[in-house]
Amino acid sequence: MKQGWEAVIGMEIHAQLATETKIFCGCAVETGGEPNSNTCPVCLGLPGALPVLNRRVVELGARAAMSLGLEIQESSIFSRKNYFYPDLPKGYQISQYDKPFSANGQLTIMTSERDDQGRAVEWKPMTIHIQRMHLEEDAGKNVHDGLPDVDRFSYVDLNRAGTPLGEIVTSPDFRTSWQAYDYVNHVRRVLQWVGASDADMEKGNLRCEANVSVRKVGENEFRNKVELKNLNSVRFMQKAIEYEIERQIEAHEKGEAVNQETRLWDEKNNQTRVMRSKEDAHDYRYFPEPDLQPLVVSADFIEQVKREMPELPDSMRDRFMDVYELSYADASQLVAERDLAEYFETTARFTANPKMSANWILGELTRELNNSGKSVSESLLTAEDLAELLKNVDSGAINNNQAKEALVEMFATGKTAAVVIREKGFEQVSDSGAIEKIVEDVIAANPGQVEAYRGGKEALFGFFVGQVMKASQGKANPKIVNDVLKQKL
Ligand code: ZN
Ligand code: MN
Repeated sequence: MKQGWEAVIGMEIHAQLATETKIFCGCAVETGGEPNSNTCPVCLGLPGALPVLNRRVVELGARAAMSLGLEIQESSIFSRKNYFYPDLPKGYQISQYDKPFSANGQLTIMTSERDDQGRAVEWKPMTIHIQRMHLEEDAGKNVHDGLPDVDRFSYVDLNRAGTPLGEIVTSPDFRTSWQAYDYVNHVRRVLQWVGASDADMEKGNLRCEANVSVRKVGENEFRNKVELKNLNSVRFMQKAIEYEIERQIEAHEKGEAVNQETRLWDEKNNQTRVMRSKEDAHDYRYFPEPDLQPLVVSADFIEQVKREMPELPDSMRDRFMDVYELSYADASQLVAERDLAEYFETTARFTANPKMSANWILGELTRELNNSGKSVSESLLTAEDLAELLKNVDSGAINNNQAKEALVEMFATGKTAAVVIREKGFEQVSDSGAIEKIVEDVIAANPGQVEAYRGGKEALFGFFVGQVMKASQGKANPKIVNDVLKQKL
């Protein structure tokens, strides 16, 4: 960013709550169905149809709110947000306005600036104020087809109408595009972690908008802000914010106006462009939804949701560093996904060697997962089997290279460590009598080297180890070989 300027960024995220049915009716929430097949009088907005709040939305909303450090309000009110659009059959969206489901969030995220290659420079904690997360219904979809002025048709698909959303709004706390990027990734991960949302931006079940303005360092007032929409991935969002910051600084410096408007990210041209200007600013005429009671959440309900919540990733990361003495980098990587974190804990428990377990999971196992495109939950190599393999390495029964080869086989076939070690003939000779015999043969066959070693050329020790291993076809237990050699030489 240009010297003397700072950016002011606030984020809005719409996260689809992972329910099986819609927020105010029993229609299924599913993607890819025949258009308008998952609809009923309620979500079609037919006159006289009445909404009934889905209890599961409140449960998942409570999980989402807790995972983001928000306070759940004892009582919240649904309101009608009035606007006209073809994908909104009632002419209003049922949302929440002055009394949202949750508010006053304090969320600590880890964030870092990035170097030219996009690598994190230094991770630091940052506290974000989340003003609110309210519950609302999604609209349907308009689908445009054909060529303009030739055979252009627009269709309305209401399968998505009535899908439950949590809208998460922050204060304008962010000063760089990477802070916003790290925040959205944090939110995505915790929502997935607690099972509140699939939070997949590609599938559109997590959508974000950024409000961006710039000002001179030291200024207290805000200048005109631009709302960025259509951000289909976190990376595009970061690029769009970055572009927008530079564009606004340049305009202010040239004395040009920065209009309060909505802009879209144009992926092909790597720039933002105007979607609509201030003239169509909406006046939604909110008023309380007369067909729904205030949503009252009891302390018991909140207690129950709290009890069912899994340990959150940041707390798990800190615990891994504390209890298992892992580095910040390793612990962070392990909690990138809940399944991976649980896989690690199981492996570490069985091996009683957490550091070794972490190394193998982040190294060999991760490589196999990446190569095969599988997730850890799809891995044929279970945590218990991996632990069994690592115990064989720990005891010296097989060496690292053999274990790596065995892991590849176990990952591909789902066979146990014992079976693969036997099939590959990795079983080491740990019988010291057999090893003594080989050592004696090697000593007898190399009198010159033995004399030199005994005369002080200690570097030759490696030569003897090599000869013994060769004679045993690599199967001799190296620890025992070392001991026996030292004794006999
Ligand atoms: Zn319906
Ligand atoms: Mn909304």
